[in-house]
Amino acid sequence: MADHDLDLVVIGAGSGGVRAARIAAGYGARVLIAEEYRVGGTCVIRGCVPKKLLVYASRFADEFEDAAGYGWTLHEPRFDWRTLIANKDREIARLELAYTTNLERAGVKLVKSRAMLEDAHTVRLATGETIRPRYILIATGAAPWFGPPIPGIEHVISSNEAFHLDKLPARILIQGGGYIAVEFAAIFNGLGSEVTLVYRGENILRGFDDDLREHLKAEMTKLGVRIVCGRTVRAVQRTQRAFSAKLSDDSTVDVDKVMFAVGRWPNVAGFGLDEAGVRCTPNRGIAVDPLSQTSVPHIYAIGDVTNRVNLTPVAIREGHAFADTMFGDKPTAVDHTNVPTAVFSEPEVGTVGLTEAQACERLAKVDVYKTSFRPLKMTLAARDMRAFFKLVVDGENGRVVGCHIVGPDAGEMIQLVGVAVKMKATKADIDAVIAVHPTSAEELVTMREKALSHRREAAE
Ligand code: NDP
Repeated sequence: MADHDLDLVVIGAGSGGVRAARIAAGYGARVLIAEEYRVGGTCVIRGCVPKKLLVYASRFADEFEDAAGYGWTLHEPRFDWRTLIANKDREIARLELAYTTNLERAGVKLVKSRAMLEDAHTVRLATGETIRPRYILIATGAAPWFGPPIPGIEHVISSNEAFHLDKLPARILIQGGGYIAVEFAAIFNGLGSEVTLVYRGENILRGFDDDLREHLKAEMTKLGVRIVCGRTVRAVQRTQRAFSAKLSDDSTVDVDKVMFAVGRWPNVAGFGLDEAGVRCTPNRGIAVDPLSQTSVPHIYAIGDVTNRVNLTPVAIREGHAFADTMFGDKPTAVDHTNVPTAVFSEPEVGTVGLTEAQACERLAKVDVYKTSFRPLKMTLAARDMRAFFKLVVDGENGRVVGCHIVGPDAGEMIQLVGVAVKMKATKADIDAVIAVHPTSAEELVTMREKALSHRREAAE
């Protein structure tokens, strides 16, 4: 111990790093956390939190329209992008301060500096100071990737810049079909931009349940998002008025902004991982074992930089588990299965567990229950919007192994369904619950008719 300046240096003060630092300090460890940008990381500064604020803003337009059916007369609503961005920035600054204060209260030393690994044991700060801690935790997150270079890539923005545009683009093209592309397509569409979503595959949200994807695409299309599948952006050219994006089928789309959301890459470059002997996986994340230990025994890594399940609550759980393991004498591996997740599109998506296709690959018998309906609120609003619910059940023991929802509050609902799935609830357990009426969530406990049943043929 005496050989070490500190017990722990955390590199990166995002959700995972901050949690690990605070909990470790709570166990009595001497902790320093280094952050080169702003405290809070992607989630707080330019991810989940500001994104959700923009999502809220984008949903008012439909609410104003729907209010008429409920007897309200509104004057023409007007939207001001600059007000939204300024208010959002104020809230993010407040949160950043709260994170900083919590670190200080926990006794963590915060250093606003880039940190590098000089060798496997030495951390060098941008100030030139070097530290030899007992343990090092890398929690440097990930950053937007722009895909292979194309002509005009310098005109393309990522979600980072989308949070700080000086005005709302009247027309925007977004390339990608994952969380970020779909969420920003919904945000800009709701705020009044003309949105073209360009995706290279057959349908958006690859990896999600196929029925859910179909349903979402149809609903987003109804709301006015132009979804162009099977194409990519080949080039972006500045024109007199804005930009012209050339697609792989040689068609062009004229827009005021082009945004790419084609994935994020772990932040592993340029801070001495090779010098320290820390190995990466073929998918570019830092390779770790179930306790987040890297190839160097006293160096650990958590969160997006490990490219396991890239979600904030997972990084937080990994950070907490690391601190429990190393300083709390409670070795804890994070269970990465059945993680509930939401896509804050319009309509919203909530999902947990296996898709129908995954269940069919893994289980001998699979029962599927699904329903689609118009939520009650949409009736007087005269809005043609349908929600979708699906349960995937292990046909051999009745366990619910997957749930997929598209519709208002899907994110809120899936958090609770996640509890049931994690507890290994069966379809019969869910059926035994009495409905809360009238809600959308009651559909979960009232789906009686099997839509499909798959049975894998026994091998000959
Ligand atoms: P994703 O990995 O989810 O999606 C990337 C998309 O870009 C995919 O549709 C992919 O297509 C497409 N793509 C990849 N390479 C190319 C290429 N060369 N040309 C054209 N298209 C390409 O990344 P995101 O950037 O959307 O999000 C990053 C991570 O952030 C996600 O993994 C998610 O975990 C997290 N996140 C979570 C949110 C939430 O919880 N609500 C919100 C936002 C982000 P294909 O499918 O064919 O591979």
